[in-house]
Amino acid sequence: MNIFDLAGGGAGPAETAAAVCSRKGCRSGAAWQLLWNNPKIHTPERRKIWLACDDHRLWLEDYLQTRALWKETVPLDLAAAPGRDS
Ligand SMILES: [Zn+2]
Repeated sequence: MNIFDLAGGGAGPAETAAAVCSRKGCRSGAAWQLLWNNPKIHTPERRKIWLACDDHRLWLEDYLQTRALWKETVPLDLAAAPGRDS
């Protein structure tokens, strides 16, 4: 059993730890997770994750949608900011 497959972090946890935009050459902090799947190489329930900054979210979505790989885009809520009410 491979828990990383279940979590969707196929390339390893280090890829998401940095939380930097996946767009080539962009070093902005990521605000979005783009979940995608390539049926040619992944099982249907598998999810790959690209990270995107606000500027490149649409660019990367379009890239994946053009290739019919895109599944969904969700906010990157690293902490969900609990206890920040004071
Ligand atoms: Zn970017």
